[in-house]
Formats: sequence, C-alpha cells, structure tokens
Amino acid sequence: MSSALDVNAIRSDFPILEREVYGKRLVYLDNAATSQKPRQVIDALVRYYETYNANIHRAVHALGEEATAAYEEAREKVARFIGAPSSESVVFTRNTTEAINLVAYAWGRANVGEGDEIILTQMEHHSNLIPWQQLAAEKGATIRYIEITPEGTLELGNLSALFSPRTKLLAMPHVSNSLGTINPVEEIVAEASKRGVTTLIDGAQAMPHMPVDVQAVGADFYAFSAHKMLGPTGVGVLYARRELLEEMAPFLGGGEMILKVTFEGATWNDLPWKFEAGTPNIADVIAFGSAIDYLDALGMDNVRRHEVEVTAYALDRLRGLDDVTLYGPDDPEQRGGVVSFNFGDLHPHDVGTILDRHGVAIRAGHHCTQPLMRCLGVTGTARASFYIYNTQDEVDVLIEGLKAARDFFK
Ligand code: PMP
Repeated sequence: MSSALDVNAIRSDFPILEREVYGKRLVYLDNAATSQKPRQVIDALVRYYETYNANIHRAVHALGEEATAAYEEAREKVARFIGAPSSESVVFTRNTTEAINLVAYAWGRANVGEGDEIILTQMEHHSNLIPWQQLAAEKGATIRYIEITPEGTLELGNLSALFSPRTKLLAMPHVSNSLGTINPVEEIVAEASKRGVTTLIDGAQAMPHMPVDVQAVGADFYAFSAHKMLGPTGVGVLYARRELLEEMAPFLGGGEMILKVTFEGATWNDLPWKFEAGTPNIADVIAFGSAIDYLDALGMDNVRRHEVEVTAYALDRLRGLDDVTLYGPDDPEQRGGVVSFNFGDLHPHDVGTILDRHGVAIRAGHHCTQPLMRCLGVTGTARASFYIYNTQDEVDVLIEGLKAARDFFK
C-alpha cells in the first residue's frame, strides 16, 4: 500500500488498466514513454467534440467562444501548475521536441554564431541533442558536454571549466529518462546565469513526477510534454521568460501568430500567440487542462512520495536477483521513477518480449539516448518506469517475469 496516494481509487479512474494482455492483467511500466489517461481526461476530449467543437480566437459564435475560453483556461492552469509568472510565458507546442526546436530556431539562429559554444550533458535525450547539433553545424559552433560519473550523476567538479566567454547556451535534462537521475538544475542554472549564459531545461521526465516551479529552477526556457503527465498526445509546453519571447522572432508563420498583414509584410500577435501559428491542438490542450486538475487534486508532493516508495521497492527487489546491473543513483531520493537495468547476458529486447508475455509493459533499447548508452558501454537497457497507479504488487509481477526470462534462456 502507498502511504501517499489512494492507488485503488486512482486505478479505478484508468479504464485501460482493466484490460488484459495475453490473458494476463496489464502491468504498465512504460510511463517514461507515455502515461495512461484517466477517465476525466478522456471525458474532456469527448465533451469538447460532442458539445462545443469550434475553432478558437476568431469566432463570433457561442461554440467558438466556449472553445476559446476552455483553451485559454487550460493555459492558465498550466501557468499556475508550473509557477509561471503569467500565462503569456506558456506556449503550446506539439511536444517537448517541438518546444526545444522552437528555441533552437527562434532563439538559437539569432543568438549563436561561429565559434560560439553550447553546453549539454552526456545524458541528453536525442530531443535535446539533435536540434543543437544541427544549429552548431549550421553556425560553426561547438558543443561541450558535462560528463557523467560511474554512478550516473553529472560530474560537476569541473563545471566552471566548461564555460568560456563564447558560451551562449546551457541545455540539460531535469531528470534523465534513461538513468532516472534528478539533476541539480537550480545550481547549474545559477552557474550559467551568473555568466550571462541562456539556459534551457528539458523537463519531460520531471514535470509529470514532482513539484516543479519554473521560476525557482530559474531557467530561461523549460520544456515538457502533456502525454507523459496524464494528458493526450500532441501537446507540449514551452515555458519561457517573457523578455526572451518578446525579443525572439516567430518560429512558424501563418494564421493566429499575426496582428496585421499587408502585401508588404506583417506584425506579430501578442504573447504567447506569436508562437502558435495555425489552428492549435484545441481538444488535446483542453483535455490537458483536466490532466492538470487531476494531478493538482492528488498533490505533486504525494505523487513524488508514491514514486519514491515504488522505486525504492523495485530497486530492492531487483538487487535481490542475481546478475542484475542497475544504472543510475542508488538512492531513490536522488532519482525519478525510472529504473534501468540489464539482466545477465540477456538482450534487453528479449527481456522486454518475455515480460510482455506476462502482461508487463516495459521499454527496451537505447531510450533515445544513444551517446549515453555508449558511455555506459551497452547498446541498451531494460527500463521500468512508474507512475501514480503502479503498485508494489506490480513490481512483484515484474520480478516474477524476470525470473521466467532467466529460466527461458537458461
Ligand atoms: N526529453 C526527455 C528526457 C524525454 O524522456 C522525452 C520523451 N521520451 C523527450 C525529451 C521527448 O518528448 P516528446 O517525444 O514528447 O517530444
């Protein structure tokens, strides 16, 4: 039993958790990839399409006004949830990846030039690596990497040596999707900011799982995805400091993002709409608002406590198996609800396939962190990742599945 959350009540809100896979109860442990959705979120989608589906912002009819109000209300909810000073700092994108690309194009192309430097970490998801590699290649800039320690934390001893007068940006994950490591982002952002370096935090694995106040983190940009925090796919958020958004040129051009257009040119819409060209993902943004309500009602401190409990239990049980290699920090307080491991000489895909036959959904592979896998000296890992509806019983099913995998390949 969790001491922080009423998991039985939570589970009853998630219709998918009632299904079976290969005749076994579904044990969904792939939450770092995407979370499941509660009835409340699914209902919000259906309600929108059944009762007030309309395009937003320009409509002169009731449906359009209702849809606009609901869409903008979702933005207000997000702003409150993340501690943004105002909803003008909240830009809706398709996902974390698009949010980071928005910054790489709209800020990066204007502010990074030949000979400039960007600092990243060795634990980047490809989403926070490729856009900067593309920018660096285009501009003739250089990327430096904060290395990882054998424990899977960041090597911060020589952090100051990585900065130079040419450093323009520091971008890094709040929580690693492969190692689970929670990085001391406040401290690192402060080091960058005092040198006048712009900062971006990839919060895809943090915002869903712990209380995050973007102003306390202090970064200029903070990106995350709705689909990993009970919301629908197709919605991401870019939080940005208002002054930066004001300075930046638009990312995409078209409808919505303009104020006045002539044959000669155009002026841009107010924030945040300047960065939301075209018809946005109205239904999914509104349903994301319901996901935020759901998490708010649980309390993010409780979400975090629950995940620490389940993760601690999973780490203990995995350590009890012979021949398991665990990656990331030992202390569950220093990690999110992500447990990456290898099991004997079994290929992670084989582990994943056998577990699937037991109804257990995990992820196997490089988790979009190929360079990190190279640092770890592996081609991939098996990864179990937890959320609000997971239980210790489900961890037990995972362990039984692993024992079966070992017997199968003996
Ligand atoms: N960064 C991290 C740390 C992630 O875990 C993910 C999703 N796996 C992403 C970025 C990309 O998120 P999305 O696919 O929603 O753009």
